[in-house]
Amino acid sequence: MLEIKDLNVSIDNRQILKGVNLTVKPGEVHAIMGPNGTGKSTLANVIAGKEGYEISGDIIFKGKSIMDMPIEERARMGLFLGFQYPVEIPGVSITNFLKAAVNEKRKSQGLDPIKASEFLKIIEEKKNVVEISSNLMKRSVNEGFSGGEKKRNEIFQMAVLEPDMAILDETDSGLDIDALRVVAEGVNKLKKPTNATVVITHYQRLLDYIIPDYVHILFDGRIVKSGDKSLAVELEEKGYEWVKKELL
Ligand code: ADP
Ligand code: MG
Repeated sequence: MLEIKDLNVSIDNRQILKGVNLTVKPGEVHAIMGPNGTGKSTLANVIAGKEGYEISGDIIFKGKSIMDMPIEERARMGLFLGFQYPVEIPGVSITNFLKAAVNEKRKSQGLDPIKASEFLKIIEEKKNVVEISSNLMKRSVNEGFSGGEKKRNEIFQMAVLEPDMAILDETDSGLDIDALRVVAEGVNKLKKPTNATVVITHYQRLLDYIIPDYVHILFDGRIVKSGDKSLAVELEEKGYEWVKKELL
């Protein structure tokens, strides 16, 4: 599904990622953990195709190098990024935003725009997955949303767009325990043998609800440790200082 090979990323001559390697197979859930400022969001942004970075190495998605592909083309191929800080889009309702996104994807597959009735059916079905209110969906994307509502909306978008590869950047941060459970359940319900998810999180808490197949620790721009869920538990107990000490 996704293969990252020796990825080096710099901004303004400062190196942020220093040779990241990662392989994600269909059906897998990977968690990437690490202290603040270690390059987690940079990694997510670079995979999604955000511009403004100096990059070397390779990113292969569904067997194809996407390094030179613009962000929208990666999205059409089935890549999805849930933002750590979702942007507000005043004047565009969630419903219209999602309809445009769905139709853009259909267009690239040579399909006609979705029928209104069919779209409503999908919306109704997916709404229940993330327990998002109808009221919220009529409002402008993220405008005046609480932190929890924004994150729910990210998962709702993911549910409607059904990406092959979803990267969720700290979707758990700022959530109370109920919202956290809903978000995690959303991820779990959308899991299929044919898709994959990378959840980026600072805390082990989310991983009580989403059981990852692999856990990776990103530290100072490198994946310094990989393991299964027990690694996250160990990290929670010993803290990031433990990782730092082990590296010295
Ligand atoms: P994390 O998500 O792990 O907290 P980030 O990837 O957001 O870390 O940031 C890693 C480092 O890169 C930080 O020191 C941050 O200040 C720096 N950085 C990220 N984006 C930019 C940018 N656009 N310009 C300059 N520095 C940046
Ligand atoms: Mg971040």
